Amino acid sequence: MYIIYDDFYLKHDNGPSHPENAGRLLSIKKSLDGWKLKNRTITEKPREASREQVEWVHDRDYVGKIKSLSEGGTLSFLDPDTGVSQHTFKCARLAAGGGFKGMDLISGSDPGFRKFFALVRPPGHHAFPSYGSGFCIFNNIALCAKYSQKELDLKKIAIIDFDVHHGNGTQDIFYRDNNIFYISFHQYPHYPGTGSFEETGSGKGSGFNLNFPFTAGTGDPDYLISMIEIVLPLMERFEPQLLLVSAGYDSHSLDPLSSLGLTGTSYYKMAFILSCISHIHCRGKMGIFLEGGYEYGATAGGVLETIRGCLDQEDFKDSGSKEAVRDILEIDYGMDSPQITNPGLLSRLKNIFKL
Ligand SMILES: [Zn+2]
Repeated sequence: MYIIYDDFYLKHDNGPSHPENAGRLLSIKKSLDGWKLKNRTITEKPREASREQVEWVHDRDYVGKIKSLSEGGTLSFLDPDTGVSQHTFKCARLAAGGGFKGMDLISGSDPGFRKFFALVRPPGHHAFPSYGSGFCIFNNIALCAKYSQKELDLKKIAIIDFDVHHGNGTQDIFYRDNNIFYISFHQYPHYPGTGSFEETGSGKGSGFNLNFPFTAGTGDPDYLISMIEIVLPLMERFEPQLLLVSAGYDSHSLDPLSSLGLTGTSYYKMAFILSCISHIHCRGKMGIFLEGGYEYGATAGGVLETIRGCLDQEDFKDSGSKEAVRDILEIDYGMDSPQITNPGLLSRLKNIFKL
């Protein structure tokens, strides 16, 4: 797998005692550097997204505002949580350009790998066309989807988001779009307040937006069953050409900002299933973006487990059906099992999406 990383990502600064800080990336890099599977990754530097490219998703005025606030050189805030400082404009363009570079790397006629993990800051999924919020400046994954459509002729793209927070920016950008299927797993109710199961897209995008609003304490049985029973069949119907993943490790049970119950093993299993989807529909193409995750050890461990899940799936070719995936991952609980925390929600979603 390609890892996209640049030390410049450490320079974005939200101010003292902020949970979204450079230490997050430093701890991931340290874990990765000492990892036994490191030899199955290649680290590449990102490109810098041009201002014109950023404006594929964001309003010109908003992009200009980030530029001038950065040039001001002092820390200012877009909302109480989201800082802009001296290096933010360049750092945010490098974060978006991390996805562009990753797509270029996996898109050649004979690429070394078909997957990349963009270890970027600032994160992106709470960034809207005309404003940033929730630690996010530019919407990295949305820009990557636009880049893939415009430059690489990949039309139908699935975005799957397992950050603990609803990716309200990404949902908003693609809410009326039937070529981008956005799927989010998140704690609910929780920041930012959106992401109910009734938000399913509008206009021609109706039926192409899926939210799994999970109650506090939900663990991986709900995630895995949801992926196998709902996401896999929906992807069979949609047939994406590319799978993009918003990977937030604030859904880990140790995260200080949230209350879900995932573990390192959960990320391994989810990555295995996501890699299966990319293998079945996208010729293995998959781009993963770091979003949240504020407990250093849980985040670093989650990143490695995500990569390991993808590598193991690629080694194990016979994983094309949901029965095979269940067997491989030893997932044997049913929809009515007491281990499922949100059984009513899952059957409701099956009805809404006619599964
Ligand atoms: Zn988050």
